[in-house]
Order: sequence, then C-alpha cells, then structure tokens
Amino acid sequence: MPTPELPADPPTDRAFAEELDEQDPLASLRERFYIPEGDRYMDGNSLGLMSKDAEAALSRVVDEWRDLAIRGWGEADPDWFHYPERLGDRLAPLVGATESEVVVGNSTTVNIHTLVGTMLDAYGAETILVDDLDFPTDHYAIRAQLRQRGLDPEEYLVVAESSDGRTVTVDDVEAALVGNDVDIVFLPTVLYRSGQLLDVEAIAELAREHGALFGVDAAHSVGAVPHEFDANGVDFAVWCSYKYLNGGPGAVAGLYVSEEHFGSPPALAGWWGNDKGTMFEMRTTYDQAPDAGAWQVGTPPLLAAAPLDGALDVVEDAGIEALREKSVALTEYLVALTDARLAQHGFEVGTPRDPDRRGGHVALEHPEGYRISEALRDRGVVVDYRPPDVVRVAPSPYYVTFAEVWSVVDDLVEIAERSLYEEYERESGGVT
Ligand SMILES: *Cc1c(COP(=O)(O)O)cnc(C)c1O
Repeated sequence: MPTPELPADPPTDRAFAEELDEQDPLASLRERFYIPEGDRYMDGNSLGLMSKDAEAALSRVVDEWRDLAIRGWGEADPDWFHYPERLGDRLAPLVGATESEVVVGNSTTVNIHTLVGTMLDAYGAETILVDDLDFPTDHYAIRAQLRQRGLDPEEYLVVAESSDGRTVTVDDVEAALVGNDVDIVFLPTVLYRSGQLLDVEAIAELAREHGALFGVDAAHSVGAVPHEFDANGVDFAVWCSYKYLNGGPGAVAGLYVSEEHFGSPPALAGWWGNDKGTMFEMRTTYDQAPDAGAWQVGTPPLLAAAPLDGALDVVEDAGIEALREKSVALTEYLVALTDARLAQHGFEVGTPRDPDRRGGHVALEHPEGYRISEALRDRGVVVDYRPPDVVRVAPSPYYVTFAEVWSVVDDLVEIAERSLYEEYERESGGVT
C-alpha cells in the first residue's frame, strides 16, 4: 500500500489528518519507538528517538561485554571486530554505494577532516568550494585542513553565496566556480536551516566539468532521503547516525569513499584503518585497508555503534523509498497547513515547495521564531530554533503522525493568534 497522494489543497480539519494516518502504510513503525511522554517530537533531525530495536542491540553488546569481555571482539554475535564494516554494508544501499565504499567510524566532523585532508594530499588539491549557509563545523574543519597545509583559507576557501539566504542553487555554485580554480566542491545534501535538498546529481556533473572533486555532508538526509552517490559521481561523503537514522546521541558516524579513491593515504591514519588481515601483526608500517575501511582511525566505539545496528532493522523493514514517500507527504501536508492557517499570522515557509528539493524538515520563519519555539516547547512540542527566525519542524517519517502535524499547526495558530509568545523572554544569545 503506497503512501496516498495529498490533494493540492488538503482539508484543514483534524479528521482529514486522522484519515491520512489510517491510510499510512508505515503507521505501525511508531510502535517500535519510545516517544517521550507527552511529547509531540518534531526534532528527529537533531536527535532521532530510541527504538526498541536500538535498545535491544545496545543491551546485547552490554551483555556481551559483561559475559565475554575481551573475547567479544571475536565471539560476540555479531562480532565486534567487523562491526564497523558490517554497519557500512547495511548503510551502503541507503546511499547508493557498494558495500566496500561505506564504513562507520569517528564523528562527522572528524570524517570531514580526514576525507578533505586526504583529497588535498592525494591530488595536490588547494582550493575548496563551500557555501555560506553551511553547518559551521564543516567550515571549521576545512579551514583547519587548509591551514595545516600552509594554505590560507582567506585565499583557498571559496564560498558560494546564496542569493536568497535560504537556498543554494546550481547557479549559485556555478557562479562561484567560474573564475576560481576550484579543486574540491564540498556541500551539504540538505541545508540544516532551510531544509533545502540540493541537486546532488547536477552539482556532481558541474564539479566534474570544472575538474573538481565533489564531497557531500549528508548529515541531514541519510535515513530520510535515498541517495545515489555512485551513480551521481560523488567522490566522498560523511553523515551522522544520530539524526534520521536514530542511532543514538553521539552515535558513530558514516563515511563513503568512491572506489576510485581507494588506496589514497588517509589524512588521519590510525590502526583501525589498517588491513584487518595484518592489523594484529602490529607492524609499525601502515598497511592500508583496500577499501573505505581505511578511513577508520581508532577502536570503534561499540556502545555508540550497537544502537545503530538495531535502528537499521527499522530502516530496512520500512524501506528507504517508502520512508521518503511518507516524509514528503508529511512535509507537504505541513506546508499546505501553513499556507492555509499560519500565513495570515506572519509565518513563511523557508523550505522549497518542490518536494524534490526538500529534505525531511520544514523551516517555518517568523520574526518571533525564538519565543514561538519556547511556547511550543512548553506545550510538549519539541522543535528547535535556528537564528535568526527559523522554527525547524521535522516530522520524522519513522514515528510522527499526520495528526501530530495537524496539532502542532493548531498550537501555532493559537500561540500566534493570542500572542502567547509574549509571555517568554526574548532570545539572550545563550544556549537555547
Ligand atoms: C549535525 C551535523 C553535523 C554534526 O557533526 P558532529 O561531528 O556529529 O557533531 C555536521 N554537519 C552537518 C551538516 C550536520 O547537520
């Protein structure tokens, strides 16, 4: 049963939302998750919820640690020694890669360091293109990698500028490529603030035409949006496991290296990137793993990897295409309700209206975004605020219902209509 298509102007009553839930082929997935009591959880793009599957996989490793201790590396089921490769094999279909091209290890930020550093070294690359709406850590890591090679970021970091402050178009990227001798293009798949899904395929082609490598930060899409990294010609990619993948806080991150780059020396080499066949010969010369496994650094954090193994059962049972369909239906419905009920109260949709250009969340812009998000929290609606005016609403397809989306909009109408946000302090600039 496919996710039903939404009519162009869906009815705005709650009964219609309930109808959508009744027809939702993925409705039962929600029962596999722990929803914090009283919450309507719209923050799965920051930290996905715990599933019973993830909990069980974690308990299993905890039990094995207690019962097997060091023997767990070989005797646990699945064994700990190959755990990162095994998770890589399971993630590969979600990003359109072969199993050997994907592994888990480190954090997303560390993976940006090692993969960008690797490409700089392997190809004598110097100039890197990013965009001005990026998640900050990407810029910090890339600037550091440039500096470590004596390349002044003021000169060697090219920043493509968004023309509307919300989105980065293929034209924006092209404008930044022309006249700058760019060696590496590194962009997000989905912008963390507006939720725009970039045209990975078109940008990959553009990068290729300009003789540049193309890397992506897919933290805001893996688990919600299917990717085709091999077919699109992406050279390397990084992503988090704790957002749409529901792998738990600080879960081990994912990385993809196209097989074209196998054998390039990792910028951050460590013994877990050594070939597993010779690793325990404990030689002091590095014998690089022949595949993406080479970009692991140290011992995998098993307790931060195990929940992902369980969480992936949920992804596989649902299927990434069906998850994407539901995700699009949820955001489509949210956009339609915003137009019908919130536009008159000063809300604007900051996310592209073309579902093919939208990731898993919707940016609701309002001059009082900060205080409105505070008011929502007090009602058990978990969202996050991103300066200057964005309330991010992420209806994760794993556990959010259409009725919840309806009720969040209904709360927003009340908060705006009665100016209830005025009871809250203005933003102080501290941690929100
Ligand atoms: C969440 C996020 C990160 C986080 O990186 P960590 O190393 O896991 O803290 C990086 N990039 C993007 C685009 C993100 O959305």
